[in-house]
Amino acid sequence: MAGDYTETQVVVVGAGPVGLMLAGELRLGGAEVVVLERLVTPTTESRASTLHARTMEILDSRGLLDELGPVPNDVMGHFGGIPLDLTLPGPYPGQWKVPQVRTEELLGHWATDLGAVILRGHELRGLTVTQDYAEAEALGPNGPVRLRAKCVVGCDGENSTVRRLGGFDFPGADASRELIRADVAGIEIPNRRFQRLEHGLAIAARRPDGVTRVMVHEFGRAVRPRTGDPEFSEMVDAWKRVTGEDISGGTPVWVNAFGDVSRQATQYRDFRLFLAGDAAHAQMPIGGQALNLGLQDAVNLGWKLAAQVTERGPEGLLDSYHAERHAVGRRVLGNIAAQALLLLGGPEVEAVRSVFGELVRQDDVRTHLAGMISGLDIRHDVGPGGHPLLGARLPHAELAVAGDRTTTTALLRSGRGVLLDISGDADHRARRLGTAAPWAGLVDTVAAELLPERGEFAGADAVLVRPDGFVAWAGSEGEADLITALHRWFGAPAVSATANNSTKRRGHNMGRLTGRTALVTGSSRGIGRATAVRLAQEGALVAVHYSSGEEAAHEVVASIEKDGGRAFAVRAELGAPGDVHELFVGLEDGLKERTGTTDLHILVNNAGVMGGVSPEDTTPEQFDRLVAVNAKAPFFIIQRALKNMPNGGRVINISSGLTRFANPQEIAYAMTKGAVEMLALHYAKALGPRGITVNSVAPGITRNGNPVFDIPEVVEQMAALSAFNRVGEPQDVADVVAFLATDEARWITGAFIDATGGTLLG
Ligand code: NAP
Repeated sequence: MAGDYTETQVVVVGAGPVGLMLAGELRLGGAEVVVLERLVTPTTESRASTLHARTMEILDSRGLLDELGPVPNDVMGHFGGIPLDLTLPGPYPGQWKVPQVRTEELLGHWATDLGAVILRGHELRGLTVTQDYAEAEALGPNGPVRLRAKCVVGCDGENSTVRRLGGFDFPGADASRELIRADVAGIEIPNRRFQRLEHGLAIAARRPDGVTRVMVHEFGRAVRPRTGDPEFSEMVDAWKRVTGEDISGGTPVWVNAFGDVSRQATQYRDFRLFLAGDAAHAQMPIGGQALNLGLQDAVNLGWKLAAQVTERGPEGLLDSYHAERHAVGRRVLGNIAAQALLLLGGPEVEAVRSVFGELVRQDDVRTHLAGMISGLDIRHDVGPGGHPLLGARLPHAELAVAGDRTTTTALLRSGRGVLLDISGDADHRARRLGTAAPWAGLVDTVAAELLPERGEFAGADAVLVRPDGFVAWAGSEGEADLITALHRWFGAPAVSATANNSTKRRGHNMGRLTGRTALVTGSSRGIGRATAVRLAQEGALVAVHYSSGEEAAHEVVASIEKDGGRAFAVRAELGAPGDVHELFVGLEDGLKERTGTTDLHILVNNAGVMGGVSPEDTTPEQFDRLVAVNAKAPFFIIQRALKNMPNGGRVINISSGLTRFANPQEIAYAMTKGAVEMLALHYAKALGPRGITVNSVAPGITRNGNPVFDIPEVVEQMAALSAFNRVGEPQDVADVVAFLATDEARWITGAFIDATGGTLLG
């Protein structure tokens, strides 16, 4: 049956933290994604709550930490219950306590704001994989749903349906020992970190809300087969046998049991199917490593899968997901198995525990274990080179970029790769950034000064960083290795230049500008309005700028949103003192709220005023006003926007056919448009190395709501000026602007584009 399925690029199964993180990463990479989730509403149980240093850095690299607010932190962790100081160089040492519900809520909002579609109450029932697509069949509240995608990713936990339906091997061992765990209200018992008693292990931690989390393990007690969660009475009895305390008077919030299961899928990828998180590896949740491992799987996979499904991924990129994350998973499972032995072993492990207790006080042992548990020591095989940073995560450091202070971590907010030049040498920088220019749009190039010192960057004048924060190249010489790394991780430039070249629009907007942000000045009406709508149809998040037409601007936003697009309104009167500042305060707030960054990819300088006064009657004040709005404002808007504009950005200035077609009634106005055209000529040259194009679009007479267009005789005269014998519609111009904004127009810069419908032919 054709046509009864919905098409997307990636289906993610499971809207837990791992699935949501992956959905957000896929959107950042420009891929369409639909998430299927069995539960109708998000879980309210917070089973996992520990975020480790590497995960905190990742959340920072996506601008998500501010929204989390203050997070309790403890540098002390443990290894198999033996206290271990997790402090390592970096901004987020130790364990950070964030209830899983909060992590899910945060990632859910982020992914949705980025355009991920989450279908709750949809249970996966079937999977079909063909040479051309993977199809997921789910049962939703309104009946069966079929989604056809390029790939399906199982983020559906330990009992993964994707893993089962996909026939993945999942070898390993089931649990032989278990802990019963519960959140209990209304009990007063002493806190216990990892108390080893004669008959077992007891843990109790009272939270500020009065609920106590208790965990108990009885030494030597075999795991019993279970079909569901244990009854609270089982917890009460075990607690009594181990501690002698009676907690039967408490009220259980929830109870579950977990054991020292250790299994890992042999392959994380099978053609069009992928596994991430607990679906790929089942392990005992000691010290929160499982959640962190899963989130990091998602961040490793997201950008690679997005590149693949948008047809710009280099050969072998996706295979690196399995190669990298399976190795990391195997190592974590190993440390968890060792910890399980130390933690759940009876008196027979005491001697090993005591030797281990001495060892962890040695700093190199402590550092080794802390690196492993925090995820900070992960190192991938990324290619040739000998710098110590190669394959490691980008160290967090303070930077000055064009006079502004920032951090290396914040450079990753766009989800693109970064080539960071810290040489401080202009020639060097120009050569480096020029090398990466063909990858503009996929790799941001940043020249910065490290503050206060070079630290781990010693010996490197520049680093190339993958979107997931791993250093793919580091060095000072050897352009050839840099080019190899750019090819290996970002593909051939000719292919990468057409990034995001998806023209499908189904349900939610996906298009050539997905993942981009745009500012269209003067888009409350006329050509600006049509341009804002058009860019949003192509998937861009659009800032609809206005001055007096507040209601009209909000109507434009509502209309874009009704069609599944994303937009927000921003006010500023151009030509008034402080205009550009006011515009950018509103713009940056709006962008930050919706994307986590203030990146602006596309600027359309459209706002303008007509003269309408003959040259002999034009006053100096009228002249100044025309210049201020039409010429001075675009100049300073560009000057300000370049701080926000990543490489590969677009500047489009709306000029007029009157710079080529005489109309003595509009001399002053035409002069301002002549001035605007100079921006394209000179800025195009200056911004070429950053892959930013600057062009002028010149409309002819275009229907803009002016009452003159209601007079048929006048319209007829105006139409006669065009080769097509009609006046222009705002959409005629908007389509031209939209094209210039896409990657397809990458080779056009400094140009005057005649959008007059042939009026200039004479
Ligand atoms: P329009 O319908 O008159 O709309 C002008 C837009 O610019 C409105 O959104 C208006 O905002 C905004 N604007 C005007 N002055 C502003 C100021 N001082 N500060 C902030 N915003 C201001 O314009 P249009 O006819 O679509 O023209 C758009 C562009 O195309 C202009 O640059 C114009 O010169 C050029 N153009 C038009 C034609 C044509 O025949 N229509 C031909 C050639 C070139 P508020 O309404 O919210 O104040």
